[in-house]
Amino acid sequence: MNVLGLFVRNLMRGPVTDPYPFGPTKTAKRFRGRIEFDAASCEGCKLCERVCPSGAIKFSKDPGGLAFDCWHATCVFCGTCAFYCPTGSIRQTDDWSLAHVASEKFALVEHGLIPNQTCAECGATALDTAPMEGGVKPPLTPEEIATLRPLCPKCRAKFMKARKAKK
Ligand code: SF4
Ligand code: SF4
Repeated sequence: MNVLGLFVRNLMRGPVTDPYPFGPTKTAKRFRGRIEFDAASCEGCKLCERVCPSGAIKFSKDPGGLAFDCWHATCVFCGTCAFYCPTGSIRQTDDWSLAHVASEKFALVEHGLIPNQTCAECGATALDTAPMEGGVKPPLTPEEIATLRPLCPKCRAKFMKARKAKK
């Protein structure tokens, strides 16, 4: 096709670029963007921290519980954490709009906190994590999950032992 032909074809097709940031744009399906963390459904297994190839995820002790941080300036958006998370507590959004100035890089963090709680059975201080359900047979009922949730790991283990003995 000669130059004139190309010119006419492109004129007929119209622009192929989006006017962003001055107008709307779209995101490709299954785009791997910013990480989102849901502390309420997290089991605290730290698998996401172990599998992250760039070391973007860090769990650290906090006076109020266990802090979760995902550094978006370090994340390579591979999706490994979301793939391996057994509870879906880490989700990869399609938010790609992460441009920032260098001074803001420490603010570009997904932060969450799994708070401390007092065990309803023994009164010990423990993390308010979601009970581990993976591989439990028969699966935990909603009532059992509600019973386990306010317990510390030792009391949860006792409950599970008693459950196993009953079935
Ligand atoms: S449940 Fe998911 S988000 Fe929580 S520590 Fe485990 S892998 Fe990470
Ligand atoms: S998407 Fe990949 S690099 Fe980013 S936090 Fe998850 S595992 Fe780490």
